[in-house]
Amino acid sequence: MRSRIILISIFFLAMGATFLFRKPHSPETGGVWSLTDHLSKLEYLTDSLNSILADTIEVRTAFVEEGGTLGALLYSTGIEGNRYLNCCDILIDSLGWSSVHVGDTLDAFYARDTLTEVRARPRNGRGYYCIEFDGTADPVDWYWVPEEQFRRLRAVTLVVSSSVWESIASGGVPPDLSPSGHIVTARDSIREVAYIKGFENELANRLFVYDIDFYYDVQPGDSVWVLLEETRYPGSSETTFRRIVAAKYDFTLGGMTEAIPFFHQPDSLAPDGSAIILDHYHRDGASLRTMFLKMPVPFGRISSPYSDSRMHPVLGYTRVHRGIDYAAPMGTEIYAVGDGVITVRGFTGGYGNMVRLRHANAYETGYGHMNSYARHQEIGSYVRQGDVIGYVGSTGLSTGPHVHFEMKRNGSYVNPASEILPPANPLLANDLDFFMLQLPVLESTWSIMAGMDIPVSQPQGTESSNTPTE
Ligand SMILES: [Zn+2]
Repeated sequence: MRSRIILISIFFLAMGATFLFRKPHSPETGGVWSLTDHLSKLEYLTDSLNSILADTIEVRTAFVEEGGTLGALLYSTGIEGNRYLNCCDILIDSLGWSSVHVGDTLDAFYARDTLTEVRARPRNGRGYYCIEFDGTADPVDWYWVPEEQFRRLRAVTLVVSSSVWESIASGGVPPDLSPSGHIVTARDSIREVAYIKGFENELANRLFVYDIDFYYDVQPGDSVWVLLEETRYPGSSETTFRRIVAAKYDFTLGGMTEAIPFFHQPDSLAPDGSAIILDHYHRDGASLRTMFLKMPVPFGRISSPYSDSRMHPVLGYTRVHRGIDYAAPMGTEIYAVGDGVITVRGFTGGYGNMVRLRHANAYETGYGHMNSYARHQEIGSYVRQGDVIGYVGSTGLSTGPHVHFEMKRNGSYVNPASEILPPANPLLANDLDFFMLQLPVLESTWSIMAGMDIPVSQPQGTESSNTPTE
């Protein structure tokens, strides 16, 4: 099938990304070419350009300080009158810069004392808002200019000493995480923690959550082999963690758990044009994950179990509760328990702010009393298992922060706790063939990147048991 060939090509492209990207431009070839002539010409041009610019262009820069406002920011660069009003309108209404924070900057460009361009740069934004003027007070164009970025692949090998977090902190963070190559500023520290948190979360809470108990199974001396994707921002010389492509956890006491990647189309619920998704499998093509997560919050405590209209055995009266309440601190992340499409996202009365998802196999889930929703999602968005969809709150009829979690199958309420949670679909037929075909390619590329042969698990037959334990 042609689409499979495209998918496998994408995979190889991703594999080669590190080598392909950032190749320096090759110099012009052919003819007589003198480097010194070229450089002196460039220097001359740069000098004359700078002198022209210095004469005519003035840049006034302002920073947001404690208690600063957008108005103060504009005033301090000399933007007044109708230009001021137009900038406020565009920045707030059209470009969505609704609140300024300490460290945000604004550059106002003047040519012979006339405002020509405004650049507003949110401190943690990856780019800036740009407003162009043509000499009058009416702006001619405005837009967001994203910072240049590219993705790269990196092989990381960790040896566990005390915890996975500690191992990532000491051996998994890239040397070019921050501009200086060291953790110096508060921003560097935030980046470092975010990198480690993203890495650990993906490894322990997503990939290996069903196979490894990171409290009891982990031993000093275990090794973790990871092939991961990072986003590199050459403009600000920073690197962020993106996702894990492949991983192996090699237990020092014997045994290994592997997460082998496969890129494929999302399920049929996903809207047209949804990106190709990355899923992980065992060596034999069995899925690494179950269809649903056990609960929608990381460390929830059941504060009210599921109960249909039968008499409550303890309370002695009838109390219908077609869902499970998980108490969790205000603001705790709420996860989508399975891949699906957002069908409801809004205030619903008793359940307060609620999100509902439609899943494959006629399942639906609902999450109530949210404090707020995850950004960049809307009705119709396709979310993956484990994606954050909102934050724990106490909106609607609620006495304290908790998430009301409910599940339906074929339109009827079911008890999420007693639903059999089958493994997600394994790879079959053509998919399995391609998976097997690309496995040796992946492992040899990975070995080259890691600088040594990566370990390969031995088939044991008794290794994976698909029987749910509760
Ligand atoms: Zn409830």
